[in-house]
Amino acid sequence: MPSEFELIRRYFTRTPRHTPLGVGDDAALLAPQPGQMLAVSADMLVAGTHFFDQTDPAQVGWKALAVNLSDMAAMGAEPKWATLALALPQADERWIAAFADGFFDCADKFAVDLIGGDTTRGPLCISVQIMGQLPPGQALRRDGARPDDDLWLSGPLGDAALALQQLQGQQALTDAERGEVLPALLRPQPRVALGMALRDVARSAIDISDGLLADLGHLLRASAVGAEILLESIPRSAALQRRLPSARSLLLAGGEDYELCFSAPPQARARIEAIGRRLALPLVRIGHILAQSGLTVRDAAGEPIAIEVTGFDHFAS
Ligand code: ADP
Ligand code: MG
Repeated sequence: MPSEFELIRRYFTRTPRHTPLGVGDDAALLAPQPGQMLAVSADMLVAGTHFFDQTDPAQVGWKALAVNLSDMAAMGAEPKWATLALALPQADERWIAAFADGFFDCADKFAVDLIGGDTTRGPLCISVQIMGQLPPGQALRRDGARPDDDLWLSGPLGDAALALQQLQGQQALTDAERGEVLPALLRPQPRVALGMALRDVARSAIDISDGLLADLGHLLRASAVGAEILLESIPRSAALQRRLPSARSLLLAGGEDYELCFSAPPQARARIEAIGRRLALPLVRIGHILAQSGLTVRDAAGEPIAIEVTGFDHFAS
């Protein structure tokens, strides 16, 4: 059985790209670019709550970092450094090796250095802290939306929730449909390049982790505005479309899609469309910001839809 230190050396120590001192000392040493702001965030994945115990560890590793990168994307920050705190029930090297493969697969794709962490015995839990940088005054905050801003989405919603239902035996999907929706749940793609491209274009942004209604609600409250969105304009996969109207709650309130929802003034439309083409992202307008608080979702006939569902809340009773 390898020691804790052997595990760290073997699986979590890689030559850093842009860090003077990474894993191995009492603390890492970073050299943020002078004049840049640091953006810092953390997200935790708990076995049984955020993933099934049997989930492929490489997928858990990818997702543990990807959900953190999504928070950087939602701020318009460039992710640079991550720490990893791991509680493991046992030193299962096959699990740890596969987890590390998935984690570094994501870290390499987004040029993030793993700079340190902690490894302890305990119920399986993965806590990642992410740090990124961005120029002062350019963050995509939740409180920047203004009346008449367009509301945009970076991609389809509801697929992760549909995939989860299928894994829980509540949905029967064809093989083609599984191929269409499972990646959203198992290998989410943080919209980092989009967030950075929107720095001087969008006024506000949030990533959709708990469902559109819940997350857009946070943005509207922070900005002290309201919004109107069109149900028909929300992008969705063919698999989800086929399950409407019963899958409407997945579209509006399904979590874990990690697309960005952002607001921008109408004058920015051409620039945003150009960003979408450059990044090959299907950016679409789903509605607009109103001065009056509240969120209205309208159907194709323009009628308001009664909203009975909100997003996931760990402490909801
Ligand atoms: P200390 O006892 O000083 O906290 P540790 O023995 O916990 O040090 O960690 C030794 C080194 O390994 C530190 O640099 C720490 O940041 C790093 N480290 C520990 N666990 C991990 C991990 N899961 N991933 C990356 N680095 C880790
Ligand atoms: Mg320690």
